[in-house]
Amino acid sequence: MSDVAANLAHIRDRMAKAARGAERAPDSVTLIAVSKTQPAEAVEAALVAGQRVFGENRVQEAKSKYPALRETWPDLELHLIGPLQTNKVGEAVALFDVVQSVDREKLARALAKEMDKQGRRPACFIQVNTGEEPQKAGVLPAEAEAFVALCRDSLALPVQGLMCIPPFEEPPAPHFALLRGIAERSGLSQLSMGMSGDFETAIALGATHVRVGTAIFGARLTQPA
Ligand SMILES: *Cc1c(COP(=O)(O)O)cnc(C)c1O
Repeated sequence: MSDVAANLAHIRDRMAKAARGAERAPDSVTLIAVSKTQPAEAVEAALVAGQRVFGENRVQEAKSKYPALRETWPDLELHLIGPLQTNKVGEAVALFDVVQSVDREKLARALAKEMDKQGRRPACFIQVNTGEEPQKAGVLPAEAEAFVALCRDSLALPVQGLMCIPPFEEPPAPHFALLRGIAERSGLSQLSMGMSGDFETAIALGATHVRVGTAIFGARLTQPA
């Protein structure tokens, strides 16, 4: 686990260099430590090293780890970065501070209703399927602006930005640039893009949030389905 602190320091250093290289302030980029499949002890090691923002891709797994950690670290911030089923919306609104995977009208409506019911309003990111991959979640780029308008203006969701996961086999830069263009046209300032292998490229293209898992925690213990 002592590796976690060293890895975090190294990633923060690389992030700051990438930000300065793009003439951006290093503190304009938030590191989300993606802890899916990692034990609570690994998350604790990151917390001890000063990390406060975490990402999980499954509601159930997050629920099994984070409520206990929050008792000791009440200022930790938890992002949902994986697909959300409408039957889990109640749990997600109760548990997460940010939902980055808003990608369809049915889900957006369920989130709006649940936020009213709970009086808790996690920030929302709209996930865009920049590679138009059939198996991947996210709204299509051509539909993204209209979907942002629906979520933000009609449903009054607290939409802050956009998120994408580029196709693994393609260079990510065009996807990051596409996401940035959609955000600019939609008047959104936050961009969640970049992972262990490409976060520096994402920062050069305007990422405000990078989602880094294996470069902090090492290989995942089990492969999420
Ligand atoms: C797992 C995951 C990450 C982190 O990926 P690494 O390559 O381990 O950094 C980032 N974003 C999403 C949506 C993920 O599911």
